[in-house]
Amino acid sequence: MTFKKYIFKNLWLQVVISLIVGLSVGLILGDDVGMGIDDENLDFATSYLKIPASIFVSLIYMIIVPLIFSSIVVAVNSLGTTEKLKTLGLGVASYFVITTTIAILVAVFLASFIAPGNILDISALQESYDLSDKDMKINEGFSLDDIPNAVANIIPKNPITSYLEGQMLSILVFALIIGLSMTAIPKESSKPVLDLLESIQKITLHILLFSMKIVPFAVFGLIVGMVSKIGLESMAGLGVYMITVVLGLGIMLSVYLIILKLVAKRPISQTFSKFRNPQTVSFSTASSMATMPVTLKTAEEELKIDNRVSKFVIPFGTTVNMDGTALYQVIAVFFLAQLFSIELSPLAILVIIITSLLASIGTPAVPGAGTIVLSTILITVGIPPVGILLLLSVDRILDMIRTMVNVTGDLTACCVFDKITRNKIIDKK
Ligand code: ASP
Repeated sequence: MTFKKYIFKNLWLQVVISLIVGLSVGLILGDDVGMGIDDENLDFATSYLKIPASIFVSLIYMIIVPLIFSSIVVAVNSLGTTEKLKTLGLGVASYFVITTTIAILVAVFLASFIAPGNILDISALQESYDLSDKDMKINEGFSLDDIPNAVANIIPKNPITSYLEGQMLSILVFALIIGLSMTAIPKESSKPVLDLLESIQKITLHILLFSMKIVPFAVFGLIVGMVSKIGLESMAGLGVYMITVVLGLGIMLSVYLIILKLVAKRPISQTFSKFRNPQTVSFSTASSMATMPVTLKTAEEELKIDNRVSKFVIPFGTTVNMDGTALYQVIAVFFLAQLFSIELSPLAILVIIITSLLASIGTPAVPGAGTIVLSTILITVGIPPVGILLLLSVDRILDMIRTMVNVTGDLTACCVFDKITRNKIIDKK
Protein backbone atom coordinates (compact mmCIF):
# COMPACT_ATOMS: atom_id res chain seq x y z
CA MET A 1 0.00 0.00 0.00
CA THR A 2 1.34 3.40 -0.92
CA PHE A 3 1.61 6.07 1.77
CA LYS A 4 -1.17 8.06 0.10
CA LYS A 5 -3.53 5.09 0.23
CA TYR A 6 -2.54 4.49 3.84
CA ILE A 7 -3.51 8.04 4.75
CA PHE A 8 -6.84 7.74 2.94
CA LYS A 9 -7.63 4.55 4.82
CA ASN A 10 -6.70 5.84 8.26
CA LEU A 11 -8.88 8.57 9.64
CA TRP A 12 -6.74 8.99 12.74
CA LEU A 13 -3.75 9.78 10.56
CA GLN A 14 -5.76 12.39 8.69
CA VAL A 15 -6.69 13.98 12.03
CA VAL A 16 -3.06 13.98 13.15
CA ILE A 17 -2.02 15.56 9.85
CA SER A 18 -4.75 18.21 10.05
CA LEU A 19 -3.71 18.92 13.63
CA ILE A 20 -0.09 19.48 12.57
CA VAL A 21 -1.02 21.48 9.46
CA GLY A 22 -3.58 23.45 11.50
CA LEU A 23 -0.93 24.25 14.11
CA SER A 24 1.48 25.45 11.42
CA VAL A 25 -1.10 27.53 9.53
CA GLY A 26 -2.31 28.98 12.83
CA LEU A 27 1.24 29.96 13.75
CA ILE A 28 1.83 31.53 10.32
CA LEU A 29 -1.37 33.58 10.50
CA GLY A 30 -0.97 34.57 14.16
CA ASP A 31 1.27 37.28 15.54
CA ASP A 32 3.40 35.15 17.90
CA VAL A 33 5.84 34.07 15.20
CA GLY A 34 3.91 34.61 11.97
CA MET A 35 2.45 37.33 9.81
CA GLY A 36 0.11 38.75 12.43
CA ILE A 37 -2.91 39.10 10.17
CA ASP A 38 -5.36 41.69 11.46
CA ASP A 39 -8.41 40.60 13.45
CA GLU A 40 -10.98 41.47 10.84
CA ASN A 41 -9.41 39.29 8.16
CA LEU A 42 -8.71 36.54 10.63
CA ASP A 43 -12.37 36.52 11.73
CA PHE A 44 -13.43 36.35 8.10
CA ALA A 45 -11.15 33.37 7.45
CA THR A 46 -12.21 31.52 10.63
CA SER A 47 -15.89 32.01 9.85
CA TYR A 48 -15.34 29.91 6.73
CA LEU A 49 -13.00 27.45 8.40
CA LYS A 50 -15.58 26.65 11.07
CA ILE A 51 -18.19 25.40 8.54
CA PRO A 52 -17.08 21.72 8.73
CA ALA A 53 -17.17 21.89 12.53
CA SER A 54 -20.73 23.21 12.52
CA ILE A 55 -21.83 20.50 10.09
CA PHE A 56 -20.18 17.86 12.23
CA VAL A 57 -21.81 19.04 15.46
CA SER A 58 -25.25 19.17 13.78
CA LEU A 59 -24.86 15.62 12.44
CA ILE A 60 -23.96 14.36 15.89
CA TYR A 61 -26.96 16.11 17.44
CA MET A 62 -29.12 14.55 14.76
CA ILE A 63 -28.17 10.94 15.45
CA ILE A 64 -27.13 10.80 19.09
CA VAL A 65 -30.52 9.95 20.62
CA PRO A 66 -31.52 7.15 18.21
CA LEU A 67 -27.95 5.82 18.28
CA ILE A 68 -27.61 5.59 22.03
CA PHE A 69 -31.22 4.47 22.57
CA SER A 70 -30.94 1.59 20.12
CA SER A 71 -27.45 0.66 21.37
CA ILE A 72 -28.64 0.35 24.97
CA VAL A 73 -31.75 -1.69 24.12
CA VAL A 74 -29.74 -4.00 21.85
CA ALA A 75 -26.98 -4.37 24.47
CA VAL A 76 -29.42 -5.20 27.27
CA ASN A 77 -31.10 -7.76 25.03
CA SER A 78 -27.82 -9.54 24.43
CA LEU A 79 -27.95 -10.35 28.16
CA GLY A 80 -31.40 -11.90 27.93
CA THR A 81 -30.80 -14.05 24.89
CA THR A 82 -28.73 -16.67 26.67
CA GLU A 83 -31.55 -18.13 28.72
CA LYS A 84 -29.46 -20.85 30.34
CA LEU A 85 -27.02 -18.31 31.60
CA LYS A 86 -29.50 -15.93 33.14
CA THR A 87 -28.06 -16.35 36.62
CA LEU A 88 -24.52 -15.93 35.33
CA GLY A 89 -25.83 -12.97 33.32
CA LEU A 90 -27.01 -11.09 36.39
CA GLY A 91 -23.75 -11.76 38.21
CA VAL A 92 -21.69 -10.60 35.24
CA ALA A 93 -23.87 -7.50 34.77
CA SER A 94 -23.42 -6.57 38.45
CA TYR A 95 -19.66 -7.12 38.17
CA PHE A 96 -19.52 -4.85 35.11
CA VAL A 97 -21.46 -2.14 36.96
CA ILE A 98 -19.02 -2.39 39.88
CA THR A 99 -15.84 -2.16 37.77
CA THR A 100 -17.25 0.65 35.63
CA THR A 101 -18.21 2.54 38.80
CA ILE A 102 -14.64 2.12 40.09
CA ALA A 103 -13.35 3.54 36.78
CA ILE A 104 -15.73 6.49 37.04
CA LEU A 105 -14.74 7.23 40.62
CA VAL A 106 -11.04 7.12 39.69
CA ALA A 107 -11.86 9.60 36.92
CA VAL A 108 -13.80 11.94 39.22
CA PHE A 109 -10.91 11.94 41.69
CA LEU A 110 -8.17 12.53 39.09
CA ALA A 111 -10.10 15.15 37.14
CA SER A 112 -10.95 17.14 40.27
CA PHE A 113 -7.47 16.82 41.70
CA ILE A 114 -5.44 17.62 38.56
CA ALA A 115 -8.09 19.93 37.04
CA PRO A 116 -6.64 19.87 33.50
CA GLY A 117 -9.30 22.26 32.17
CA ASN A 118 -8.14 25.11 34.36
CA ILE A 119 -4.88 25.31 32.44
CA LEU A 120 -6.46 26.04 29.05
CA ASP A 121 -8.06 29.45 28.73
CA ILE A 122 -11.71 29.35 27.67
CA SER A 123 -11.28 32.49 25.62
CA ALA A 124 -9.10 30.44 23.28
CA LEU A 125 -12.02 28.32 22.26
CA GLN A 126 -14.55 31.12 22.42
CA GLU A 127 -12.57 33.56 20.29
CA SER A 128 -11.24 31.12 17.76
CA TYR A 129 -14.52 29.43 17.21
CA ASP A 130 -16.58 32.56 17.48
CA LEU A 131 -19.13 30.75 19.61
CA SER A 132 -22.54 32.28 19.54
CA ASP A 133 -24.29 33.12 22.80
CA LYS A 134 -26.58 30.16 22.20
CA ASP A 135 -23.66 27.75 22.07
CA MET A 136 -22.17 29.23 25.18
CA LYS A 137 -25.40 29.25 27.13
CA ILE A 138 -24.60 27.30 30.20
CA ASN A 139 -27.36 25.54 32.07
CA GLU A 140 -27.87 26.59 35.66
CA GLY A 141 -26.00 24.35 38.05
CA PHE A 142 -27.90 21.96 40.25
CA SER A 143 -28.75 22.78 43.84
CA LEU A 144 -30.18 20.76 46.71
CA ASP A 145 -33.62 22.17 45.94
CA ASP A 146 -33.46 20.47 42.57
CA ILE A 147 -33.01 16.96 43.97
CA PRO A 148 -36.72 16.03 44.31
CA ASN A 149 -37.40 17.29 40.82
CA ALA A 150 -34.32 15.67 39.35
CA VAL A 151 -35.18 12.27 40.85
CA ALA A 152 -38.78 12.52 39.65
CA ASN A 153 -37.66 13.55 36.18
CA ILE A 154 -35.27 10.63 35.72
CA ILE A 155 -38.26 8.46 34.79
CA PRO A 156 -39.66 10.30 31.78
CA LYS A 157 -43.41 10.96 31.95
CA ASN A 158 -43.27 11.76 28.29
CA PRO A 159 -40.25 10.31 26.47
CA ILE A 160 -40.93 12.50 23.43
CA THR A 161 -40.62 15.65 25.58
CA SER A 162 -37.38 14.28 27.07
CA TYR A 163 -36.12 13.78 23.53
CA LEU A 164 -37.12 17.27 22.43
CA GLU A 165 -35.68 18.87 25.53
CA GLY A 166 -32.48 16.85 25.40
CA GLN A 167 -32.95 15.27 28.85
CA MET A 168 -30.40 12.61 28.16
CA LEU A 169 -30.45 10.82 31.49
CA SER A 170 -34.21 10.25 31.17
CA ILE A 171 -33.70 8.91 27.66
CA LEU A 172 -31.01 6.51 28.88
CA VAL A 173 -33.23 5.29 31.72
CA PHE A 174 -36.13 4.92 29.28
CA ALA A 175 -33.92 2.78 27.02
CA LEU A 176 -32.88 0.64 29.99
CA ILE A 177 -36.50 0.07 31.07
CA ILE A 178 -37.57 -0.83 27.52
CA GLY A 179 -34.54 -3.11 27.07
CA LEU A 180 -35.11 -4.95 30.35
CA SER A 181 -38.83 -5.35 29.67
CA MET A 182 -38.07 -6.81 26.27
CA THR A 183 -35.98 -9.55 27.87
CA ALA A 184 -38.92 -10.44 30.12
CA ILE A 185 -41.48 -11.07 27.38
CA PRO A 186 -41.54 -13.95 24.87
CA LYS A 187 -38.93 -13.63 22.18
CA GLU A 188 -41.41 -13.62 19.31
CA SER A 189 -43.10 -10.54 20.81
CA SER A 190 -39.89 -8.55 21.26
CA LYS A 191 -38.20 -9.63 18.04
CA PRO A 192 -39.85 -7.11 15.65
CA VAL A 193 -38.82 -4.16 17.86
CA LEU A 194 -35.36 -5.61 18.39
CA ASP A 195 -34.91 -6.03 14.63
CA LEU A 196 -36.06 -2.46 14.07
CA LEU A 197 -33.69 -1.10 16.73
CA GLU A 198 -30.78 -3.15 15.38
CA SER A 199 -31.48 -1.61 12.03
CA ILE A 200 -31.67 1.91 13.53
CA GLN A 201 -28.38 1.24 15.30
CA LYS A 202 -26.72 0.22 12.04
CA ILE A 203 -28.10 3.23 10.14
CA THR A 204 -27.06 5.77 12.80
CA LEU A 205 -23.67 4.11 13.11
CA HIS A 206 -23.27 4.48 9.38
CA ILE A 207 -24.06 8.21 9.62
CA LEU A 208 -21.61 8.45 12.52
CA LEU A 209 -18.84 6.83 10.47
CA PHE A 210 -19.67 9.11 7.57
CA SER A 211 -19.65 12.24 9.73
CA MET A 212 -16.25 11.20 11.11
CA LYS A 213 -14.87 11.87 7.62
CA ILE A 214 -15.51 15.58 8.26
CA VAL A 215 -13.47 15.54 11.47
CA PRO A 216 -10.04 16.26 9.89
CA PHE A 217 -11.46 19.43 8.28
CA ALA A 218 -13.33 20.43 11.43
CA VAL A 219 -10.21 19.95 13.56
CA PHE A 220 -8.13 21.92 11.07
CA GLY A 221 -10.52 24.90 11.25
CA LEU A 222 -10.69 24.80 15.02
CA ILE A 223 -6.93 24.56 15.55
CA VAL A 224 -6.06 27.27 13.00
CA GLY A 225 -8.48 29.61 14.78
CA MET A 226 -7.17 28.79 18.25
CA VAL A 227 -3.48 28.96 17.47
CA SER A 228 -3.65 32.05 15.25
CA LYS A 229 -5.49 34.04 17.91
CA ILE A 230 -4.10 32.72 21.15
CA GLY A 231 -0.83 31.05 20.24
CA LEU A 232 0.62 27.67 21.05
CA GLU A 233 0.09 27.90 24.81
CA SER A 234 -3.62 27.40 24.15
CA MET A 235 -2.74 23.77 23.45
CA ALA A 236 -0.93 23.15 26.74
CA GLY A 237 -4.12 22.21 28.60
CA LEU A 238 -4.75 19.45 26.10
CA GLY A 239 -1.43 17.83 27.04
CA VAL A 240 -2.32 17.83 30.74
CA TYR A 241 -5.78 16.47 29.90
CA MET A 242 -4.18 13.60 27.95
CA ILE A 243 -1.79 12.81 30.79
CA THR A 244 -4.73 12.73 33.23
CA VAL A 245 -6.61 10.22 31.06
CA VAL A 246 -3.53 8.01 30.57
CA LEU A 247 -2.86 8.07 34.32
CA GLY A 248 -6.46 7.02 35.03
CA LEU A 249 -6.27 4.20 32.50
CA GLY A 250 -3.00 3.04 34.13
CA ILE A 251 -4.77 2.94 37.52
CA MET A 252 -7.55 0.82 35.99
CA LEU A 253 -4.97 -1.68 34.72
CA SER A 254 -3.63 -1.97 38.28
CA VAL A 255 -7.18 -2.54 39.55
CA TYR A 256 -7.45 -5.48 37.13
CA LEU A 257 -4.17 -6.89 38.43
CA ILE A 258 -5.55 -6.78 41.97
CA ILE A 259 -8.81 -8.44 40.86
CA LEU A 260 -6.86 -11.16 39.02
CA LYS A 261 -4.78 -11.89 42.09
CA LEU A 262 -7.41 -11.61 44.82
CA VAL A 263 -10.64 -12.69 43.12
CA ALA A 264 -9.65 -14.83 40.14
CA LYS A 265 -6.68 -16.23 42.10
CA ARG A 266 -4.43 -16.28 39.06
CA PRO A 267 -0.70 -15.54 38.90
CA ILE A 268 -0.55 -11.90 37.82
CA SER A 269 2.39 -11.70 35.44
CA GLN A 270 1.74 -15.05 33.77
CA THR A 271 -1.92 -14.20 33.18
CA PHE A 272 -1.25 -10.66 32.07
CA SER A 273 1.35 -11.80 29.54
CA LYS A 274 -1.35 -14.00 27.97
CA PHE A 275 -3.49 -10.89 27.44
CA ARG A 276 -0.83 -9.59 25.07
CA ASN A 277 -2.43 -10.52 21.72
CA PRO A 278 -5.87 -8.95 22.25
CA GLN A 279 -4.20 -5.97 23.92
CA THR A 280 -2.00 -5.36 20.88
CA VAL A 281 -4.90 -5.79 18.44
CA SER A 282 -7.21 -3.50 20.43
CA PHE A 283 -4.45 -0.91 20.72
CA SER A 284 -3.88 -0.88 16.99
CA THR A 285 -7.53 -1.09 15.85
CA ALA A 286 -9.09 1.04 18.62
CA SER A 287 -12.14 -1.20 18.40
CA SER A 288 -13.13 -3.83 20.97
CA MET A 289 -15.56 -5.24 18.41
CA ALA A 290 -12.83 -5.79 15.82
CA THR A 291 -10.69 -7.39 18.54
CA MET A 292 -13.43 -9.74 19.78
CA PRO A 293 -12.39 -12.85 17.81
CA VAL A 294 -8.84 -12.56 19.19
CA THR A 295 -10.14 -11.88 22.71
CA LEU A 296 -12.32 -14.97 22.54
CA LYS A 297 -9.50 -17.14 21.19
CA THR A 298 -7.13 -15.95 23.92
CA ALA A 299 -9.71 -16.58 26.62
CA GLU A 300 -10.33 -20.14 25.49
CA GLU A 301 -6.94 -21.27 24.23
CA GLU A 302 -4.45 -19.36 26.36
CA LEU A 303 -6.36 -18.70 29.56
CA LYS A 304 -8.23 -22.03 29.37
CA ILE A 305 -11.52 -20.39 30.30
CA ASP A 306 -14.56 -22.67 30.22
CA ASN A 307 -16.08 -21.80 26.86
CA ARG A 308 -19.58 -21.59 28.34
CA VAL A 309 -18.24 -18.63 30.33
CA SER A 310 -16.11 -17.04 27.62
CA LYS A 311 -18.81 -17.31 24.94
CA PHE A 312 -21.10 -15.30 27.18
CA VAL A 313 -18.75 -12.88 28.97
CA ILE A 314 -16.67 -11.74 25.97
CA PRO A 315 -19.49 -10.77 23.55
CA PHE A 316 -21.55 -9.28 26.39
CA GLY A 317 -18.53 -7.45 27.82
CA THR A 318 -17.46 -6.16 24.41
CA THR A 319 -20.87 -4.54 24.02
CA VAL A 320 -21.54 -3.15 27.47
CA ASN A 321 -18.39 -3.22 29.60
CA MET A 322 -16.23 -0.22 28.76
CA ASP A 323 -14.34 0.83 31.85
CA GLY A 324 -11.69 2.68 29.84
CA THR A 325 -14.35 4.56 27.90
CA ALA A 326 -16.33 5.51 31.03
CA LEU A 327 -13.16 6.75 32.74
CA TYR A 328 -12.20 8.75 29.68
CA GLN A 329 -15.69 10.23 29.27
CA VAL A 330 -15.82 11.44 32.87
CA ILE A 331 -12.37 13.05 32.71
CA ALA A 332 -13.38 14.69 29.41
CA VAL A 333 -16.60 16.06 30.94
CA PHE A 334 -14.70 17.52 33.90
CA PHE A 335 -12.07 18.92 31.56
CA LEU A 336 -14.66 20.70 29.43
CA ALA A 337 -16.64 21.85 32.48
CA GLN A 338 -13.46 23.39 33.92
CA LEU A 339 -12.71 24.88 30.52
CA PHE A 340 -16.14 26.48 30.24
CA SER A 341 -15.99 27.51 33.93
CA ILE A 342 -19.01 25.43 34.84
CA GLU A 343 -19.18 24.74 38.56
CA LEU A 344 -20.10 21.08 39.09
CA SER A 345 -22.24 20.66 42.20
CA PRO A 346 -22.30 17.29 44.04
CA LEU A 347 -25.67 16.56 42.44
CA ALA A 348 -24.30 17.38 38.99
CA ILE A 349 -21.39 14.99 39.67
CA LEU A 350 -23.88 12.30 40.67
CA VAL A 351 -25.78 12.88 37.44
CA ILE A 352 -22.49 12.62 35.50
CA ILE A 353 -21.69 9.33 37.26
CA ILE A 354 -25.07 7.77 36.43
CA THR A 355 -25.16 9.16 32.90
CA SER A 356 -21.65 8.00 32.08
CA LEU A 357 -22.38 4.53 33.44
CA LEU A 358 -25.34 4.24 31.06
CA ALA A 359 -23.55 6.07 28.25
CA SER A 360 -20.63 3.64 28.36
CA ILE A 361 -23.15 0.80 27.96
CA GLY A 362 -24.58 2.63 24.96
CA THR A 363 -21.18 3.30 23.36
CA PRO A 364 -20.68 1.18 20.23
CA ALA A 365 -17.36 -0.70 20.34
CA VAL A 366 -15.88 1.09 17.33
CA PRO A 367 -13.10 3.69 17.00
CA GLY A 368 -13.94 7.15 18.30
CA ALA A 369 -17.45 6.24 19.47
CA GLY A 370 -16.69 7.13 23.09
CA THR A 371 -16.12 10.76 22.14
CA ILE A 372 -19.36 11.04 20.16
CA VAL A 373 -21.43 9.44 22.91
CA LEU A 374 -19.77 11.90 25.26
CA SER A 375 -22.16 14.51 23.84
CA THR A 376 -24.94 12.73 25.78
CA ILE A 377 -23.27 13.56 29.09
CA LEU A 378 -22.35 17.07 27.96
CA ILE A 379 -25.96 17.87 27.03
CA THR A 380 -27.11 16.55 30.42
CA VAL A 381 -24.80 18.85 32.34
CA GLY A 382 -25.20 21.80 29.98
CA ILE A 383 -21.68 21.87 28.50
CA PRO A 384 -21.49 23.09 24.85
CA PRO A 385 -20.91 19.90 22.80
CA VAL A 386 -18.68 21.84 20.41
CA GLY A 387 -15.89 21.12 22.92
CA ILE A 388 -15.91 17.59 21.53
CA LEU A 389 -13.97 18.81 18.51
CA LEU A 390 -11.18 19.94 20.75
CA LEU A 391 -11.02 16.46 22.25
CA LEU A 392 -11.24 14.80 18.84
CA SER A 393 -8.03 16.52 17.76
CA VAL A 394 -6.09 14.36 20.19
CA ASP A 395 -8.47 11.46 20.47
CA ARG A 396 -6.85 8.66 18.53
CA ILE A 397 -4.05 7.85 20.94
CA LEU A 398 -6.42 7.97 23.93
CA ASP A 399 -8.89 5.79 22.03
CA MET A 400 -6.19 3.17 21.43
CA ILE A 401 -5.27 3.04 25.11
CA ARG A 402 -8.85 3.07 26.44
CA THR A 403 -9.88 0.31 24.01
CA MET A 404 -6.97 -1.76 25.28
CA VAL A 405 -8.24 -1.18 28.83
CA ASN A 406 -11.81 -2.12 27.78
CA VAL A 407 -10.58 -5.42 26.38
CA THR A 408 -8.37 -6.11 29.41
CA GLY A 409 -11.44 -5.53 31.58
CA ASP A 410 -13.42 -8.14 29.64
CA LEU A 411 -10.62 -10.71 29.91
CA THR A 412 -10.29 -10.06 33.64
CA ALA A 413 -14.05 -10.56 34.01
CA CYS A 414 -13.69 -13.87 32.17
CA CYS A 415 -11.04 -15.05 34.62
CA VAL A 416 -13.20 -13.99 37.59
CA PHE A 417 -16.32 -15.80 36.36
CA ASP A 418 -14.35 -18.82 35.26
CA LYS A 419 -13.19 -19.12 38.87
CA ILE A 420 -16.63 -18.44 40.36
CA THR A 421 -18.59 -20.75 38.09
CA ARG A 422 -16.08 -23.53 37.53
CA ASN A 423 -17.20 -25.54 40.53
CA LYS A 424 -20.88 -24.84 39.94
CA ILE A 425 -20.82 -25.89 36.29
CA ILE A 426 -18.75 -28.99 37.03
CA ASP A 427 -21.20 -29.88 39.84
CA LYS A 428 -24.10 -29.63 37.43
CA LYS A 429 -22.51 -31.89 34.81
N1 ASP B 1 -13.01 2.52 20.73
C1 ASP B 1 -13.63 2.05 21.94
C2 ASP B 1 -13.89 0.57 21.86
O1 ASP B 1 -14.10 0.04 20.81
C3 ASP B 1 -14.89 2.78 22.26
C4 ASP B 1 -14.53 4.22 22.54
O2 ASP B 1 -14.45 5.03 21.61
O3 ASP B 1 -14.26 4.53 23.71
O4 ASP B 1 -13.87 -0.10 22.87
